[in-house]
Amino acid sequence: MFETSIAGSLPKPEWLAETQKLWPQWRAEGEALRQAKADATLLWVKTQEDAGMDIIGDGEQARQHFVHGFLEQVEGIDFVNKVKMGIRNNRYDAMVPQVVAPLRLKGRVHAFEARLARAHTQRKLKFTLPGPMTIVDTVADRFYGAGEEGRIKMAFAFAELLNQEALALQADGVDIIQFDEPAFNVYLDAAADWGVKALERAAQGLTCTTAVHICYGYGIQANIDWKQSLGEEWRQYEKVFPALAKSSIQQVSLECFHSHVPMDLMALLQGKDVLVGVIDVASDVVETPEQVADTIGKALQFVPKARLLPCTNCGLAPMSRAVAEAKLKALVDGAALARQRYA
Ligand code: ZN
Repeated sequence: MFETSIAGSLPKPEWLAETQKLWPQWRAEGEALRQAKADATLLWVKTQEDAGMDIIGDGEQARQHFVHGFLEQVEGIDFVNKVKMGIRNNRYDAMVPQVVAPLRLKGRVHAFEARLARAHTQRKLKFTLPGPMTIVDTVADRFYGAGEEGRIKMAFAFAELLNQEALALQADGVDIIQFDEPAFNVYLDAAADWGVKALERAAQGLTCTTAVHICYGYGIQANIDWKQSLGEEWRQYEKVFPALAKSSIQQVSLECFHSHVPMDLMALLQGKDVLVGVIDVASDVVETPEQVADTIGKALQFVPKARLLPCTNCGLAPMSRAVAEAKLKALVDGAALARQRYA
């Protein structure tokens, strides 16, 4: 009961990459970089195990960014000539690569770190991939054409590639494949209209557990400002949850603690496992086990015990290592307390 996991990313050690950045520069290159990525992956597998986490991730140590790490292995994308683009409905600017030709995988994308993590933990292994709609929102297009039709075409093209990699990750021994779709909280109608379908295409044929993570973004200033503009009640999930409830995706990871998401929206996810965010990633204040257990208790009004999985609100990438480690411990201790209280 109450198996713990992280949403996805963890801070990169300062010997691997620049710290507290979403698009950090690597500290090494070539073989030295490959080894440093491997070392950091193993370090976090061990740290998660030591903290007592039930489900382990690779902490996304081998990719610069959760979207661009995937795109680097896709043919048809120009990474040399990046352009500045407003992403998440212009919430913030990012330097993004451009789609310039038909899309094809160059080969495996995440085999190295997935197999490494698999070889070093007996616990359940979760692996994250960006969702198709979020990829479309984090890349410039010079090939598929303007407008919604072009976006949909491009999303389904990416979904096919994601599916290839997801099936291969499953063969590597990954237990849970999670697609990250923060864009679902931004393009609400499109998410319900075609975003979920593109996601299902990405998950097609998987027999391992499938999940989607939908959040209000990393704890960066642009997101904190955006959240302040959303008012007293954040009802974004209300649009996409009914479509997800009808979908084949088995788990939904959502933001909860310190958010203004009305808890009762979780009731829209009947039949799904709900990964409830009990750890705030936009604050360095470490939650107490009591706070974590309290959040779980409140969520239990709307999610059955057997379907509730305590998680972080989002990835921990831009945080300090020490804070991230303390938050993992708080998550585990809070889940243990909740088991005592609500078993
Ligand atoms: Zn997130």
